[in-house]
Amino acid sequence: MDVAILEGRVADLKEDIDPWKSRHLIDAKGLIIAPGLIDLHTHIYYLLGHWSRDTLEVDSTSLSKGVTTVLDAGSVYPEHVDAFRYYIANRSRTRVYALLCMRRQGGCYAGAVKANRDLVVGIKWHHGPPEEDAATLSMARDAADWGECMLMCEPYGLELKTILGRLYKGDILTHSFHPPPRKGLLDENGRVLPEVWEAVNRGVYLDQGHGRSGFSIEVAEKCLKQGLSPFTISTNLHKRCIRGPVYDMPTTMSKWLALGMPLEEVVKRSTWHPAIVLKKEDEIGTLKVGACADVACFKLLEGDFPFVDSVGETRRGRYKLEATHVLRAGEVVF
Ligand SMILES: [Zn+2]
Repeated sequence: MDVAILEGRVADLKEDIDPWKSRHLIDAKGLIIAPGLIDLHTHIYYLLGHWSRDTLEVDSTSLSKGVTTVLDAGSVYPEHVDAFRYYIANRSRTRVYALLCMRRQGGCYAGAVKANRDLVVGIKWHHGPPEEDAATLSMARDAADWGECMLMCEPYGLELKTILGRLYKGDILTHSFHPPPRKGLLDENGRVLPEVWEAVNRGVYLDQGHGRSGFSIEVAEKCLKQGLSPFTISTNLHKRCIRGPVYDMPTTMSKWLALGMPLEEVVKRSTWHPAIVLKKEDEIGTLKVGACADVACFKLLEGDFPFVDSVGETRRGRYKLEATHVLRAGEVVF
């Protein structure tokens, strides 16, 4: 298909659009043309003195990789929202959303969500001191209820069954395929736990959230064999995993190709699906006419590529995605 873009929006999508009508032409023959990638788990509250020194500057780590939208999954507390908006979101070409981090008690979460709907789309529960986890999970659930927004949880700190029990349709479990010894989606025989199927069937989304310690190839393989796959592919990119094992979104997507997931499914889980989670599917994650013209072109490299997970397990793959052109709202940014 050819994609025509006018004033930052997708104006047409069909075979053989007359190139002479356009002022600027990108020859994408042989490339994969996809909506700009949406990374549903990043950490970009990049300010000196911030509690998390692992956060990254957003534009330089996203745009050249095909990522045009990111969700900061819990680097920001309610009292940081104004600074996050002013110094990060407003100054980035990447489209930015945030979840408010709940890992300790106190703070006006629901109020901050309601006052910043364009930026803050939910609450992220992060485990903390073990004696406080049950209380902070309850507070996170309350904040999401009062703020009428989504809740993203880690599968750490408390029993998975307890955590899944607090998630509703539209909520997210991240680091879903994390390695043992922490307990995860599988029982001791490698079978997907019934409470996981129950949660997925009622509309809880499984997010990858790779990161330094959140993704096991072995766990992912066992889940795929039983028909369980991530709803969204995401990096959990931060300073301690950007030089490996995560690197970037295209590498993370290529790992799923190496695990046998078809290319279309991989792209869908990195564009359309996260747009559904964010409830922005008319605007991003799609190339339908009228959508924002966030577009990424990829070369599908062929070779023998090693892919490593969070525990050093390696699989070799025949394909690797590499971004070649990236547009944000119709403008070439890479
Ligand atoms: Zn994270």
